[in-house]
Amino acid sequence: MTETPTPLPDPSTRPEPGQLTFRAPRRGKPPRHLADLSPAERKDLVESMGHRGFRARQLSAHYFERLVDDPEAMTDLPKAVRTELVRDLLPTLLTPVVRRQADDGRTMKYAWRLHDGAIVESVLMRYPNRVTICISSQAGCGMNCPFCATGQAGLTRNLSAAEIVEQVVWAARALRTGELAGGEDADREHPLRVSNVVFMGMGEALANYSAAIGAIRRLTDPAPDGLGLSARGITMSTVGLVPGIDKLTAEGIPVTLALSLHAPDDELRDELVPINTRWKVDEAIDAAHRYYRATGRRVSIEYALIRDINDQGWRADLLAEKLNRRGRGWVHVNPIPLNPTPGSKWTASRPGVEQNFVERLRAHGIPTTIRDTRGQDIDGACGQLAAATA
Ligand code: SAH
Repeated sequence: MTETPTPLPDPSTRPEPGQLTFRAPRRGKPPRHLADLSPAERKDLVESMGHRGFRARQLSAHYFERLVDDPEAMTDLPKAVRTELVRDLLPTLLTPVVRRQADDGRTMKYAWRLHDGAIVESVLMRYPNRVTICISSQAGCGMNCPFCATGQAGLTRNLSAAEIVEQVVWAARALRTGELAGGEDADREHPLRVSNVVFMGMGEALANYSAAIGAIRRLTDPAPDGLGLSARGITMSTVGLVPGIDKLTAEGIPVTLALSLHAPDDELRDELVPINTRWKVDEAIDAAHRYYRATGRRVSIEYALIRDINDQGWRADLLAEKLNRRGRGWVHVNPIPLNPTPGSKWTASRPGVEQNFVERLRAHGIPTTIRDTRGQDIDGACGQLAAATA
């Protein structure tokens, strides 16, 4: 793969200031794929194509267990059957266009071209005890947060469940073949596996709800129906779409919820996270707290620290007060030093200010950890994913 320059975002899809886009523009649908379907739907489809029902499970085992989509490798299937099943159920969804590495090979950013030319990115990160893939749920994003490069590019379209899952399958394959170098020698003795999946790439996954949930099911269903990942290793990150959070609560899947708050007061949050004009700070925090009560999963609050904008001590106090008002031990805060984005007037807080913010939260009894920033030099860090649509 060679590196190609990232084209600039198409100005026609860029949102006006303050504008929110919930409905993705209509484009040709991505081809149907096994990973869009539940195991029962796969069986029905395979039967309707005139094959034996158990072929669906065989095909699922190839895809989710062996990570294979090449018909030549499916020797347990009669040749004619393989060709047809692969053509109809395992079409190519992602074509790699750029692959860049950072952090001594422990971080890898991929840009993918989708069937209609839309581009999305994923970032694979290796840590001492885990491997995390940060995935995209939409091409672009309609939430228009002014400090986020993806938000500034506007929404191109929703991804299908299979387009979301394929990013994880590619990562799992890359780990199997040793593509993610670095790390300790001892790690190499164990085949690396994806342990964590975070919906923190491009897009607002709760605005693409059914595909996101379909993807979570495929990721967590035990093999051979799915990848068999632990729901606890999956993080759904949201700007605070309250009805979406409540729907997720009702699903009863114990994924981790992350709420991108960035300000504890409505006046500032209206500007930083425009969805706040629909659902206010207190409504978003209440929804996150309901999620905690229903699932027992501790919620993360994301807070990008922006110099002289949201990093004042009084805002740390107000945030802590609002969180503690709902109870203790239900939440932790993840401040993230702002990653610079092109054309933005904002920058990260000064280190002393950042430290003070963290200490004030801790003084109120709120567990707080600064989020490690990976891939900044390859525009692969939070808020920097902005590959545009060709
Ligand atoms: N739509 C989801 C996922 C977006 S990206 C959401 O908003 O939660 C994941 C996180 O990166 C979010 O918390 C987002 O607010 C944050 N982020 C966006 N731009 C950033 C930037 N420039 N620097 C640091 N974090 C950023």
